[in-house]
Amino acid sequence: TSASVSDELTAAIRTIPDYPRKGILFRDITTLLGNAKAFRQAVDALVQPWAGSKIDQIVGIEARGFILGGAVAHQLSAGFVPIRKAGKLPYETVSASYSLEYGLDEIEIHKDAIQPGQKVILVDDLIATGGTAEAAINLLRSVGADIVAACFIIDLPDLGGRKKIEALGVPVRTLVEFE
Ligand code: AMP
Repeated sequence: TSASVSDELTAAIRTIPDYPRKGILFRDITTLLGNAKAFRQAVDALVQPWAGSKIDQIVGIEARGFILGGAVAHQLSAGFVPIRKAGKLPYETVSASYSLEYGLDEIEIHKDAIQPGQKVILVDDLIATGGTAEAAINLLRSVGADIVAACFIIDLPDLGGRKKIEALGVPVRTLVEFE
């Protein structure tokens, strides 16, 4: 990603101190999504390494991963598969628990959403500790996905998520960093 695109994306992200609890600097991408140029730049930059390659499914993590994932899926002519918080998907699911930067959570995927061997890219807005992405990777592997990469607009490198996910054998793509 060019320095100027990274700078523009960084400028389009709003930071909310002490949300959802004291001590967290919440990186709010709604301002980026509401900026037509920044939204397009972010989606174009995320997919750039896979332009023209055959990706079967984009997997988005609830809720901000749905917005980005839908746009990425369209751009790569891939399908879209949601990973949701427990209890939201109507059909039979596979689930995984994980710890978040600020709490505990459980995510699910429909057990038939991915055909074994399908090439998938995981998409979310931000990687912090990598706990959410790790749980998503475990789910995807349990249903036989071939995970090509995990993509995020924002990396919080101090929290070690990228290294954790790369250690699982999944390449990580991010566009901007916040210390
Ligand atoms: P983690 O599992 O620690 O990598 O956390 C990643 C998930 O939590 C993503 O779905 C993010 O949207 C959300 N998240 C964690 N930390 C922040 C933060 N500082 N600002 C905004 N979202 C965050």
